[in-house]
Amino acid sequence: MHQEAKRLTYLDNNATTAIAPEVFEAMVPYLTELYGNPSSAYAFGKRVGASLIAAREKVAALINADPKEIFFTSCGTESDNTAIWSALRTTGKKHLVTTAVEHSAIMNQGEYLETQGYKVTWLKVNSEGELDLKELENSIHEDTGIVSIMTANNETGVIFPIKEIAEICHKKGVLFHTDAVQCPGKIKIDVRDTNVDFLSLSGHKLHAPKGVGVLFVKRRTKLLPYVVGGGQERGKRGGTENVASIVGLGKAAELSLASLNDEQTRVRALRDKFEKTLEEKLPNIYINGKRDARLPNTSNIAFDFVEAEAILLRLDLEGICCSSGSACTTGSLDPSHVLSAMGLTPARARSCVRFSFSHYNTEADVDYALKVIPPIIEKLRAMSPLNPNHTDNHDYDVEAAREKEEKLMAETMAKINE
Ligand SMILES: *Cc1c(COP(=O)(O)O)cnc(C)c1O
Repeated sequence: MHQEAKRLTYLDNNATTAIAPEVFEAMVPYLTELYGNPSSAYAFGKRVGASLIAAREKVAALINADPKEIFFTSCGTESDNTAIWSALRTTGKKHLVTTAVEHSAIMNQGEYLETQGYKVTWLKVNSEGELDLKELENSIHEDTGIVSIMTANNETGVIFPIKEIAEICHKKGVLFHTDAVQCPGKIKIDVRDTNVDFLSLSGHKLHAPKGVGVLFVKRRTKLLPYVVGGGQERGKRGGTENVASIVGLGKAAELSLASLNDEQTRVRALRDKFEKTLEEKLPNIYINGKRDARLPNTSNIAFDFVEAEAILLRLDLEGICCSSGSACTTGSLDPSHVLSAMGLTPARARSCVRFSFSHYNTEADVDYALKVIPPIIEKLRAMSPLNPNHTDNHDYDVEAAREKEEKLMAETMAKINE
């Protein structure tokens, strides 16, 4: 049976974003008639090359960099990997300092480096997701090649004091990389003010296409190419440029500068209304992350006594997209490493859902979500064995309840796939 088409309510903008119509429009010529290779010597190629120069200038303007400090890559992950790999290679040092709450692009690279004889310090966070800068300072020693700390966390939106962190690193003579993938259009990014050495961005988190990223490298900082090939990107990143996506990213950079104010006022107000209303309607919910030090678009909420995956499936049936922090692999519901690092119990961490808004969300989206979410949580809680108010709480069987929940999830999945 075909499900009635529901309006899509997209509240998962930290996972990826819609391509802005202006971005798409700017790209079209480079996917159609302007297909020349930007490295070619004839005018047809040079014209394409000129579009790369313009895009580089726009991206530089977004973060107050010089265009010469901008290198285009294939994604945020490649930018993150390049910065760390290059810093360790150029310094010859064997120690990386990072946090326990990084994106997998950093976390899994750190774990890989550990298998290759490198040492990694995983800085802890407190229950609000904040770092202890004293601990950071103490963790840096003479074999430390680089410190990598994200500007803002993708799961909770918690913002780190990047300028202070860069200062600590430089005082100790160590390079500093920051993953700022979540920040464009949400908070101001200024590489001159914060004085970072490397900074990563990703196109698809700022309304540009997937498969294009940026690595900012401060002038006079050594950079070894991670992808070795032709002389593209001034010899620092081989491979014919993803011209259309880079042009799109340039346009998106321009737009995100222009939408910064809207994001910090209107989008923030939508997010705050969303949280406040849910808190009024539902007991036993908790907002994760330090409230006043978060990205204006992100809301990560614990709904005690229910499994996030069950919430997500039911919201999906109502056309609402959002996510849980957990990487739901082969049915094992591992709690998010970020929420675990903040000290949430596994049960509470498994109850957390992330809602992330954007410039394109409206009051109607939020009102719809606020109408749909509370009854779903109430229904799930009524049948949850974890709920202390549950009627048959005295002799409940957690295993049986989980089995029942999994069966329900499988049925829901089957229904979706019909
Ligand atoms: C999405 C994301 C990345 C990865 O970017 P890709 O372009 O998908 O590789 C890295 N870091 C953070 C914080 C992200 O949110």
